[in-house]
Amino acid sequence: MPLLVMKFGGTSVADLSRIKNAAAKVKAEVARGYDVIVIVSAMSGKTNELVGWVESTSPLYDAREYDAVVSSGENVTAGLMALTLQEMDVPARSWHGWQVPIQTTSAHAAARFVDIPRANIDAKFAEGFKVAVVAGFQGVSPEGRITTLGRGGSDTTAVAFAAAFAAERCDIYTDVDGVYTTDPRISPKARKLDRIAFEEMLELASLGAKVLQTRSVELAMRYKVRLRVLSSFEDTDEHSGTLVCDEDEIMESKVVSGVAYSRDEAKMTLVRVEDRPGIAAAIFGPLADAGVNVDMIVQNISETDAPGDKRAYTDMTFSCPTNQVARAKKAIEDARDEGKFVYADLVTDIDVAKLSVVGIGMRSHAGVAARMFAALAAENVNIKVITTSEIKISVLIDRKYMELAVQALHDTFELDKA
Ligand code: ADP
Ligand code: ASP
Ligand code: MG
Repeated sequence: MPLLVMKFGGTSVADLSRIKNAAAKVKAEVARGYDVIVIVSAMSGKTNELVGWVESTSPLYDAREYDAVVSSGENVTAGLMALTLQEMDVPARSWHGWQVPIQTTSAHAAARFVDIPRANIDAKFAEGFKVAVVAGFQGVSPEGRITTLGRGGSDTTAVAFAAAFAAERCDIYTDVDGVYTTDPRISPKARKLDRIAFEEMLELASLGAKVLQTRSVELAMRYKVRLRVLSSFEDTDEHSGTLVCDEDEIMESKVVSGVAYSRDEAKMTLVRVEDRPGIAAAIFGPLADAGVNVDMIVQNISETDAPGDKRAYTDMTFSCPTNQVARAKKAIEDARDEGKFVYADLVTDIDVAKLSVVGIGMRSHAGVAARMFAALAAENVNIKVITTSEIKISVLIDRKYMELAVQALHDTFELDKA
């Protein structure tokens, strides 16, 4: 039997009527002759509520219990989806991660897949079941504890199942009808893309476009999964949505194909840190050990101090997620107290956002950065930090200008035009 993976995100299973609507889409694929693996998220808002309960109960929580609690949202929707399908005369059953068993590492709240053995689910398909409804976002560690994959992880569950079961396609049903040139909630001019290259989607996702979890795109790229994003609220067919595919399946691509943003960024600067070999390792080692996800790093020009003082000083700036600022601060102050380095001041700016333009066309076109900077200058938006790679340029700006800046870049690179 050909097999499809269909994933429904939180808004697509937000209540019983939406679960019915999603189940009808599954039933239609079964009627076309597919066996279907359905991956479900928790009802929208549920995971946030569960995380809140954990944090209120225990601020420095045991990550194993965090996973035990936050994974439960998906268990509810998996059961409800199986029941709804049964009511529609579709032979279906639910699967929690451990029942498959979805084997992951033991990195709680950020686990990665180790293996998804097919045998149990295949045996049920062989018995005549048409649909396996699997709770997304979760797995089981080698120690037998429940794990979760990080926020948005059901996308990754879906792609991993598509790879493990050699699915014909992996359809990600969500509340937008595809991948857009930028977040359609921010820019009314955002345009839906029919196709997007894996590399571009990977950059957009990792730079903040939460329509797909970054890891899901990585897996799809590695295992050549045909990945599609489409709306669960519209009538859809095999041409709907956006196909995420190899670069050579895209006829023409623009220099810039999308604008991404990330709101919860913070910028920290160690002012006048001694500039000597090993200083970066001395600073970023303890940050890494503390689990801080450092993103952009800028080291300023080195200056010597007063005449006669041979030492050189520099400013070291980095960005990290806002909710890791306290941890980063502690790691730096502890390292300073241990004598690893000294600095004059530690300046934190938590009101910044990261804005990025992405496009594989940048590989062969010069001048994209200059156009981006000119567009921001025209809006009087100050750039605080810049980083580039082969197919993206990112800047940090004041958060209050983020929407304005997204629109300005969207206009400059004419992303509203096909
Ligand atoms: P789900 O609950 O289905 O997993 P998410 O909320 O995780 O859905 O992702 C869908 C959301 O991603 C959309 O509602 C949209 O606001 C946001 N988004 C951000 N960037 C983009 C983009 N470039 N294209 C489409 N959606 C985007
Ligand atoms: N429910 C989880 C979350 O909100 C996983 C997901 O929806 O993909 O992050
Ligand atoms: Mg999501």
